[in-house]
Amino acid sequence: MREEELEGLRVRVSRCRRCGLWRTRTQTVFGSGPAFPRLVLVGEAPGAQEDEEGLPFVGAAGKLLTSLLLSAGLRREGVYITNVLKCRPPGNRTPLPEEVEACRPHLEEQLRILGPSLVVSLGRVAASTLLGRPVELSREHGRVLDCRFAGRSFSLFPTYHPAAALYSGKNRSRLEEDFRRLRELLT
Ligand code: SF4
Repeated sequence: MREEELEGLRVRVSRCRRCGLWRTRTQTVFGSGPAFPRLVLVGEAPGAQEDEEGLPFVGAAGKLLTSLLLSAGLRREGVYITNVLKCRPPGNRTPLPEEVEACRPHLEEQLRILGPSLVVSLGRVAASTLLGRPVELSREHGRVLDCRFAGRSFSLFPTYHPAAALYSGKNRSRLEEDFRRLRELLT
């Protein structure tokens, strides 16, 4: 059963000490959503509020993400949301390459269980991790790319991280445009 596999992985991740971030976390943030989601969204790492609540995208960026999903005709309850890192980096700094590498098996296993055909990456770190190469979002956002990750193939739709749009009107317009495009792709 997919639900049981996800729960087993969630418990293993909650005990993980593969990188130093276990020392500063309140708790791990595994991901949330149905076991058979319409699509999977992958962000960068939990922030302060996510670390407190144990759920991804619950702060201001999460509210924006919920409204972006609605603009794409998607209910938040219908999609699965997770991050590259399952623990919060102190001060919300960018994840270190060794932290991404240490946490990568968790994301690999999560995507193996969920088996999505479409993944939306939020921000540069998520897109680069999934594609296995440096990504310049200004050139590659809002397009469907072929992605092979951990032996699985799926379509990847890279866009900006909602947090980057909170204080930048330009990034917000780009994000809104990308989610309108996503709506077209899904219909
Ligand atoms: S960030 Fe990932 S690898 Fe590091 S301790 Fe947390 S769960 Fe483990």
